[in-house]
Amino acid sequence: MAEPDGPQIAIVGAGFSGLLTAVNLLRASPRVQVVLIERRGVFGPGTAYDTGNPGHLLNVRLDNMSAFPDQPGHLADWLAEQPCWRAQDGFITRGVYGDYLRALLDAALEDAPDRLTLIGAEARGLQRTADGWRIETQEGAVTADQVVLALGNLEPASPPGVTEAVRASPAYVENPWRLDPASVEGARNVLLIGSGLTMVDAALTLRRPGRRLTALSRHGLLPRAHATVPPAPFQGQFSGGPAEVLRQVRAATDQADWRAVFDRLRHSARDLWRSWPQAQRRRFLRHLRPLWDVHRHRLSPGSARDVHSMLASGELTVMAGKLTRLDAADMIEAAWRPRGRRRPIRDRFDLVVNCTGPLGVIGQSAEPMIRDILQQGYGRPDPLGLGLQVDDDGRLLDAAGQPARGLHAIGPLTRGAFWEMTAVPDLRGQARDLAGRILA
Ligand SMILES: Cc1cc2nc3c(=O)[nH]c(=O)nc-3n(C[C@H](O)[C@H](O)[C@H](O)COP(=O)(O)OP(=O)(O)OC[C@H]3O[C@@H](n4cnc5c(N)ncnc54)[C@H](O)[C@@H]3O)c2cc1C
Repeated sequence: MAEPDGPQIAIVGAGFSGLLTAVNLLRASPRVQVVLIERRGVFGPGTAYDTGNPGHLLNVRLDNMSAFPDQPGHLADWLAEQPCWRAQDGFITRGVYGDYLRALLDAALEDAPDRLTLIGAEARGLQRTADGWRIETQEGAVTADQVVLALGNLEPASPPGVTEAVRASPAYVENPWRLDPASVEGARNVLLIGSGLTMVDAALTLRRPGRRLTALSRHGLLPRAHATVPPAPFQGQFSGGPAEVLRQVRAATDQADWRAVFDRLRHSARDLWRSWPQAQRRRFLRHLRPLWDVHRHRLSPGSARDVHSMLASGELTVMAGKLTRLDAADMIEAAWRPRGRRRPIRDRFDLVVNCTGPLGVIGQSAEPMIRDILQQGYGRPDPLGLGLQVDDDGRLLDAAGQPARGLHAIGPLTRGAFWEMTAVPDLRGQARDLAGRILA
């Protein structure tokens, strides 16, 4: 085996994106050295797949969740060797997928024990050095020739109208990814702010006999569901600006299953997005994003059945309206204006969970690493609030708009450049390509 005397690459964040960048680097070069820095104490599953809740199913079929674009059967082959797992309509639990990612990490450590280093610490700052980068972590500094930021989604932040007193209240959960259901056992009347996949996750986690859940979002739209059996593929093409594409989608759904139309559209989404000038992207975000989100980010059929049974039994109610205020007293009092009406409604809740999803506007992030990168001008925010600005190769654009040498980003942070860059079917190709570019 060759000596590990090659370039040193530091990757901050060891969720799917960071792990797969590491695995691809190590597979592609016998000399590269990789340092993975992760603050959660668990390497591999990241925010999405670190759950033991059997109700938390993947929202993509297992046959499209292989970690490697050129080995579509990789996950299924791994599953075939596992003693205990189940799939519902072709969807496995997110926890089992997390085990798959842990197994990939174990295999990488076994294959290249002297070339992969794990550091369990938060990276808090970055500094350019004469020949590379220095990352400050809680456990000391790490030097590297190149750095990959695989920080994932930004932690959720509260919507407007949430006061400091509410944020400090034990009856308010700002980050649902850290929700501990055991700590809120006594809650009877629960408000979930948001009605997307994060809300569904929280609702399934909090479902208890006698508990009433109310989900509130501007449009009151719930995510649509995958079909139990995948529909026949749609082969059409899409082109033009958002309004033209919307017309083409409507026409296509007269002939084919809407899911197949969206799956096809998703393949062109990156090219369409990149062809749109900033004004068209902005228009899409303002007018079409809610529709895009509910059709594109779908529920597994099993989760959809659970949600419909909660709706039918009255355990869950979905309201369309704008939250105007939350006040903390012995309970939390919420006021919202129902869509199309002027008068606010008020109600009292013994638990409120913020399910509005990840923070998009990076300038508002309180994370030390992000603040440091912006303050030092190594990166700049995407103008539409979709993470950090990167070039076509995933290199950060610095404050002057120049690509930073040896500083890359991957995953949801790069949505401003690529739009669809949140789910495994997109991230696995991005990780492989980025590893190739780094080594080149
Ligand atoms: C609840 C949920 C369910 C999802 N379900 C699916 C699904 O079924 N199918 C699908 O394809 N996609 C799903 N996704 C999308 C998901 O974003 C991607 O699949 C993928 O997991 C993203 O991986 P990532 O590594 O980019 O981000 P993350 O998984 O968020 O990983 C980023 C990691 O970076 C670490 N980190 C951040 N900052 C620092 C720092 N300063 N120092 C050290 N470590 C740091 C974090 O602790 C985290 O572990 C889901 C997302 C969520 C939130």
